[in-house]
Amino acid sequence: MEKRGSLLVLSGFSGVGKGTVAKKLVEKYGYSLSISATTRKPREGEVEGVNYFFLSEDEFKDLIENNGLLEYAVYNNCYYGTPIKGVNDAISNGKICVLIIDVQGAENVKKLYPDSVSIFLVPPSWETLEQRLRARNSEEEEMIQKRLDIAKKELLCQDEYDYKVVNDNLDDCVNDIEKILCEELKKRN
Ligand code: 5GP
Repeated sequence: MEKRGSLLVLSGFSGVGKGTVAKKLVEKYGYSLSISATTRKPREGEVEGVNYFFLSEDEFKDLIENNGLLEYAVYNNCYYGTPIKGVNDAISNGKICVLIIDVQGAENVKKLYPDSVSIFLVPPSWETLEQRLRARNSEEEEMIQKRLDIAKKELLCQDEYDYKVVNDNLDDCVNDIEKILCEELKKRN
């Protein structure tokens, strides 16, 4: 049976493990991951074209002007956006395309693609989130605090998502998401 392409919007606080979960969805269930463009500087270990397309502000603005982005948002003074081409390619290949985007982006995608499924990933506790952010060890304390402040604001938006999934155990979390997507796609066919 041919599987219809679909969009999965994955949001959640910085440090909750969205990237790890998405990677596992790709490996285990063949999802396709949208690589975002950003003007943020790469963190240690991040690779161009794998984690993000790292652009200058001028390059990013060119992409906006040329309608190359499905959506974009400003987060912590940097631009982040979803290149439209990768998403269209994945959907036309019948894949579930995962977008790891913030709450503003999720709202915009829902308007453009009402059929998309949105999931807000939460940590088992607030303390776990703080620990994970600090363990990442790649940012100054001031930046960690900024991310925690943004997370507090994002807390208020989580009810706007179709589902909330706790990322306590990676395998359970990934299996829960796959189950949700199977159910949602079944409803639509
Ligand atoms: P980080 O700097 O931690 O990689 O990402 C910061 C925030 O930007 C996260 O909430 C992440 O989901 C969001 N983000 C990453 N790519 C995109 C994108 O293409 N569009 C939007 N709207 N948000 C994004």
